[in-house]
Amino acid sequence: MTKIASHRGGTLEYGDSTPAGFIASAAMALEEVEFDVHPTKDNHIIVHHDATLDRTTDTHGEIVRRTLEEIKAARINYTPAAAPLTLEELCTIYRPSHVNFRCEIKAGVSGHPYENFVPKVLETLQKNVMIERTVFSSFNYQTLRVLTSLTDRPVLWLVSPMVLRQIGLEDVIALAKAINVPELALSAAIATLQDAEKIRSAGLDFGVWGAHDRETLMHAFHMQAKVLTTDRPSLAIACRTEWQSQGGAQ
Ligand code: FE
Repeated sequence: MTKIASHRGGTLEYGDSTPAGFIASAAMALEEVEFDVHPTKDNHIIVHHDATLDRTTDTHGEIVRRTLEEIKAARINYTPAAAPLTLEELCTIYRPSHVNFRCEIKAGVSGHPYENFVPKVLETLQKNVMIERTVFSSFNYQTLRVLTSLTDRPVLWLVSPMVLRQIGLEDVIALAKAINVPELALSAAIATLQDAEKIRSAGLDFGVWGAHDRETLMHAFHMQAKVLTTDRPSLAIACRTEWQSQGGAQ
């Protein structure tokens, strides 16, 4: 059965990385919640997609140049308006939930990884008793390398369409193996059954990201993706039920 990960707490149903979306996702019939993390100026960890507050809140600026207090004064442009969560707060929501973490380590606005950020994320998840329920993901190869060297938890490579075009799937597989990354996630919209088979026959797990409509969700189930991330978790659950009722799970 393909696992469902509520992407950023279900962006198209609850807004981008909103507390309401994370609370709702924790009670859904799905397996994972996907979220992104950034460090603050004063060494806290914020759950937010973008490296800046500009696009989705009433405040501007880079998270890494703002204090926790400044970020907590921001309101996400979605109803109900609320401040971005810290990683500790997300752990508090999910500790009693059956839904596990899929934590994406983000880079700063320059595209470069934050310095010494991964150890801080690992330490915070450990302290908040969620590390054993977390898989990590990143688009950034340097970050993947740091992750696999610092944790035994599963790590997956989010392969962007551009990287796939530039490097080619065979070399992506070789690069993943070179740093012990056991899973690749391709864009659901462009992944093919042949890609899935090539990845699986190389001994890696295959998943997809960005399955936000019925057609793409059904395509992900058809390819037997291990996990899919979706901005529409309720739709994904309904589509999975439909797929299973048609015998698609076999
Ligand atoms: Fe993400």
